[in-house]
Amino acid sequence: MKSKTVYLTFNTKNKIEIVRITDQVNEAIAASGVKEGLVLLNPMHITAAVIVNDDESGLHSDYLRILEQLVPYRADYRHNDTGEDNAASHIWRQLIGHQVVMAITNGHLDLGTWEQIFYFEFDGQRNKRVLVKIIGE
Ligand code: ZN
Repeated sequence: MKSKTVYLTFNTKNKIEIVRITDQVNEAIAASGVKEGLVLLNPMHITAAVIVNDDESGLHSDYLRILEQLVPYRADYRHNDTGEDNAASHIWRQLIGHQVVMAITNGHLDLGTWEQIFYFEFDGQRNKRVLVKIIGE
């Protein structure tokens, strides 16, 4: 079995941002030499997520509107009593689901027609990493 670990680094311009990373993941798979296997994508920070869905800007706006309705950015969360201001970012990450595992077939991501992979930043403007762990043959 082959295995390769890659760390993608992001420093988003905005505090909240959605970044398509499908191509970067496929490049990491190509470099690994794995033809059949799995890739785990774990954002290594507790205020970010990796998701799989449509690359459609209206949908991305909808995510943000719904998250803001469910868990508004405001000051009165208990977590913010610690001196931080990012309680909503932590909760958004939990609601959206934090990591994904995807299939590798013939040396590429085996995606559905409309599937794309995104890094979903909820508290950016600083260096943050996504772990890409590739295993297979
Ligand atoms: Zn925090």
